[in-house]
Amino acid sequence: MSARILEIENLTVSFDGFNALNQLNFNMEAGELRVVIGPNGAGKTTFLDVITGQVKPTAGRVLFKGKNLRSYSEHQIARLGIGRKFQTPRVYLNLTPRENLELSVNRQKNVFATLLKKPTSGERKTVRSLLETIGLVAKSDIKAGLLSHGEKQWLEIGMLVAQSPDLLLVDEPVAGLTDEETRITGELLLSLAESHSIIVIEHDMEFVRQIARKVTVLHEGSLLCEGTIEEVQNDPRVIEVYLGTAPEDAA
Ligand code: ADP
Ligand code: MG
Repeated sequence: MSARILEIENLTVSFDGFNALNQLNFNMEAGELRVVIGPNGAGKTTFLDVITGQVKPTAGRVLFKGKNLRSYSEHQIARLGIGRKFQTPRVYLNLTPRENLELSVNRQKNVFATLLKKPTSGERKTVRSLLETIGLVAKSDIKAGLLSHGEKQWLEIGMLVAQSPDLLLVDEPVAGLTDEETRITGELLLSLAESHSIIVIEHDMEFVRQIARKVTVLHEGSLLCEGTIEEVQNDPRVIEVYLGTAPEDAA
C-alpha cells in the first residue's frame, strides 16, 4: 500500500471573486511522477502557488502527507519537504556549479560562511553525486554564468534536490531549451522520479510524451480528466477545450 503524499479537496482560490481554482480535487501517491497540463489560464500556476503556500485556499484544503497546510507559512512548507523549481533559473552566476550545490546542501544558508569554510567530506560526496546526476561533472568548476540555459536548469534542479524534498514541483522545465537539452531534462526527471514524488507542469507535448505516466488536465480551475497520455489526448473533452486544435498547438 502506498501512502498519499498530496490530497487536494474541493480547493477553490478566488481573486476578487474570480475562481482561478474551482472545487479542484486532486490526489497523488508517494513516488508518482505526475504531469499537469491545461490551456493558458487553466489554473496550473495557481495550483503550484497554493501547494507551496504562496497563495492560501479560499475554500477547501491541501493535505501534504496528511497535514493540512493552511496554517503553515511558505518557509515552513518548504521545510516540511516541498521544493519548487521556478521557470527561470535562480543560480548564483558568479559561483561555480559545485559552489552553488555546496550552498544548497549546507543547512545554514549563508553564502559567505559557506564559501569560507571547507565542506565536510559528507557534503563533498553529496555534491559530487549531485553533479553526476545533473551531468555537470566536467563543468563543476567554471562560473555558472558560462553554462547554457539548459545546464543552468539542471543545476537548479540539482540545488533543489540537494535540499532533500519529498515532493518536487517543476514549472515548465523545458521552455527555451534545445531538443537535445529537452531530452536530457526528461531523463533527469525520470531518474529523480525513482526516489522522489514529482509534479511537472508542461506545455511541450513531445516532452510530456517522453516522461508522462499519469497526466492530469486542468480546465477553468477544475480537473477535466486524468489518465495516460493516450487516454487524455483522445478524450473529446480535452480536444474541445483545446478548441479543436491538437494539444501541441494550444498547450
Ligand atoms: P495557468 O498557469 O494555467 O496559465 P494561472 O494559474 O496563472 O493559469 O491563472 C489562472 C487564472 O487566474 C487566470 O485567468 C489568471 O488571469 C488568474 N489569476 C492568476 N493569478 C491571479 C492574481 N494574483 N490576481 C488575479 N487573477 C489571477
Ligand atoms: Mg502558468
